[in-house]
Order: sequence, then C-alpha cells, then structure tokens
Amino acid sequence: MSAARAAFEDRRWAGLPPAKRKRVMQAFADQIQQHADELALTETLDMGKPVRYARAVDVNSAANCIRWYGEAVDKVYDEIAPTPDTALALITREPLGVVGVIVPWNYPMIMAAWKIAPALAAGNSVVLKPSEKSPLTALRLAELALAAGIPPGVFNVVPGFGPEAGSPLALHMDVDCIAFTGSTRVGKQIHVMAGQSNLKRAWTELGGKSPNIVFADCPDIDKAVEAAVGSIFFNQGESCNAPSRLFVEASIKEAFLEKALKLVPQYQPGNPLEKSTVMGAIVDRTQMDTVLRYIDSGKKEGAKLLAGGEAAEPVKGGCYVLPTIFDGVKNDMTIAREEIFGPVLSVLSFTDAADVVKQANSNIYGLQAAVWTRDINKAHGVARALRAGTVHVNQYDEDDITVPFGGFKQSGVGRDKSLHAFDKYTEVKTTWIRI
Ligand code: NAD
Repeated sequence: MSAARAAFEDRRWAGLPPAKRKRVMQAFADQIQQHADELALTETLDMGKPVRYARAVDVNSAANCIRWYGEAVDKVYDEIAPTPDTALALITREPLGVVGVIVPWNYPMIMAAWKIAPALAAGNSVVLKPSEKSPLTALRLAELALAAGIPPGVFNVVPGFGPEAGSPLALHMDVDCIAFTGSTRVGKQIHVMAGQSNLKRAWTELGGKSPNIVFADCPDIDKAVEAAVGSIFFNQGESCNAPSRLFVEASIKEAFLEKALKLVPQYQPGNPLEKSTVMGAIVDRTQMDTVLRYIDSGKKEGAKLLAGGEAAEPVKGGCYVLPTIFDGVKNDMTIAREEIFGPVLSVLSFTDAADVVKQANSNIYGLQAAVWTRDINKAHGVARALRAGTVHVNQYDEDDITVPFGGFKQSGVGRDKSLHAFDKYTEVKTTWIRI
C-alpha cells in the first residue's frame, strides 16, 4: 500500500500531461495485444475456459478497454458553473488516490480491466487483488504495465485469499476506494468494511439471475433459441449476466424447447486447450460440487430434467458439467431463485406481460434481462418495468465498452464501463475564484 500511496503523492502518474498518460495507456494495451496468445493460454490453464474464447474475447476486451480509457484521458473537459455574478466557480475532477480492486475468477482479465483502466486513466494508483483461483494473468498484466511505461508503484498486484488479502485492502485506512466484483455475499461485507474503516468509496458488481423473456410474437424464434442456449452455456455458465431464467410464453414453449434441445449437443464440454471446444472446464471441484448440488435440488423440487444433469469427464480428472436444461421450473424453486454459476438453464412459463414482469422482478438480483417481441409498445413497456441495469430487446449479448454495466437491487452499486466509470474514481472539487 505504501508503494501505491507514494506513487500517488509524488504525482509521478497523475502529474503527467494527459497526452503522455494516454500514450502510456495505449502502450499498455499494445503490450497486451503483443502477448495475446500467452495471456489467453494462461487464462485457460488457470480457470478452464476454452482457449479460443480466452483469445478472442478476454484478451481483446481487456486490451480494448485499456485503450478506450487511455484514449479518453485528454478528451474529458472540466466545467464552469453558471454562477450569478462575476465570481467564477470551476468544477474539476480529481483522482481519489489509491484504488483497491478485487475481482473474481470467471473473467479475470476483463473484470480487472473494467476497473483498473478508468482508475488509472483518472490518475489514481491501483492495488489489484485477483481471485485466488485465477491470479496468473493479473501478475502478468503488472509486468506488461511496467514494460509499457506505467511508473513503478502505480499499478500493483497483491494475490491471495479473500479474508487474508482482500479484507485488509477493503479495511485499509490508506485506501481511498474499493472497487469489487464478486458474489453478493462478499459484496455486502465490502460495504461494511468500507464504512467501518475510513468511509472509502465502495463500488460493487455482484451476482445475477437474469430473466430472458420470449413472447409468442418473437420476431425470430431461431435467433432467440440460439441466444437462450448459447448465452447460458458460454463460459460454462460462469457469467454474472448469464440468462439463467428463461421465460417462454406458454403457447410457444413446447416448440421453442424442441429447437433448443437440438442445439445442446454443440455444447458438450471438452478439453479447453483444443481450438474446437466451445464449453470448457468448471473452475474447480468446489464450484462443480456447488453446481451439481443445485442440479440435485432442481430434481428434488420437481423440475423436469430435459438435458444434462450430471458431471462429465472429457479430460481425466477434470471438472466438467453437462449442459443442463430444466423445464417446469416454478419461480419459488431454488434453481429459479439462486445464482448457480454453472451451465444450468431453468425454463419457466407465463401468460401475459404483467405476469412475466412480476415473476422476473421477484428476485433479489437485477443485473440484466431480455425481452423478445415484435410489438414495440410491449417491448418498451416491459423493458421499462424490468428492474435490471441492462435490458436487451430481441437479442441477448450486445456489448460495448461505451455503455454502462451494473446492477439494480442486490446486483451491486455503481456502473463499470463507459464514461460513467470515471465518476467512481474521481472526486468533484469546486474552486471559487474572485479576482
Ligand atoms: P467471491 O465473492 O467469492 O470472490 C470474489 C473476490 O472477492 C475474490 O477475489 C475473493 O478472493 C475475494 N474475497 C472473498 N472473500 C473476501 C473477503 N472476506 N474480503 C475481501 N475479499 C474477499 O466471488 P467469485 O466466486 O470469485 O465470483 C463469482 C461471483 O462474481 C458471482 O456471484 C458472479 O455473479 C459475480 N460476478 C459479477 C460480475 C458483475 O459484473 N456484476 C462479473 C463477474 C462475476
């Protein structure tokens, strides 16, 4: 912490001209791209995702995020307030100081980039604690940042377990902000720790149980089926915004599920190091056991298993779960209420817009949602009524660094991505001037 504090206090980073900080951040993004294959392989070996996606999605998104915030550094202007007379009031944004970042294991590089990029671009020092399950790419990012010219002490990585390395960061009196992505359970503790210590700013991106709502007048059923199946099984279902609750209007449910089941064989788990694999390994045995326990609860509580429902072993000794679909799920079943964080789709049914909005919103989470209909009024009405940070209409996975991402309700506090993220890592200062 002292290295990060010293780097902030002597302004070796915040004091650089914005155009220079921009160039260094561009060089950091270039370093990531130049080491893309190595980083992708490391990510796959660390947490089990298919190497093709680690390369095409994780590495590229992380580099793009750092480049985008670097690009913004010399394009964000401050303000002058419309004060009543000749006095001048400048409203400026200043870095917070030392920003602690704690991230999970499912997208280690992307989750880190979403926070370190705007925090560094705003002139802060950063201390990153990666997940104990996937710490390797974070350590490599620190080396690449140094090679790019980010001054020593500005970007630091402290690996370790949550209670031993994460809590001290959240409790530290010399840390000005804690930016956390992970479970809602730990996120709540982070807010308490921030309040108990120095009232540091606390931002949390937490769990999800996202509803994906398909009306009978969906404009393209095949596209909706592909999105429903592809998005829940992407990253082995280990995505906070996975559409894990699929609501299909009763009149088309049977036909919809028939098409969905035809796609399931494409998602058979395989060796993540093979380029053809689309679904890889679960991060570890603990997580696999959690997923299998949820599958058991679905069976016991009366949901109808349509596909999967058990572990697989395409690589000896590995942790794999078959792509699993339950039909006949009721909103009060455990598999409809709790985040499973594995390749398990719960299918529910509804009668009309009011019914599905009520069901979709009756959950502690509010991260993402989707609605499929060709009726613009229904799409707009349902999208407005859903309590979620992001709502998609007639697609599921549109994504861009330019749009904010975050949750309503217990899915967290604050937004990652877009220029809104600068608000999280800056203080607003007013300077009154009268000559
Ligand atoms: P987790 O909460 O167990 O751990 C997240 C991080 O917190 C890890 O680095 C861990 O070491 C650390 N940690 C654990 N206990 C801590 C403590 N007492 N004090 C400080 N730090 C502590 O979550 P996970 O299992 O790594 O990740 C899965 C969760 O992350 C899911 O709930 C998922 O929805 C969520 N997630 C959310 C988003 C989002 O943007 N909303 C993105 C990715 C993942």
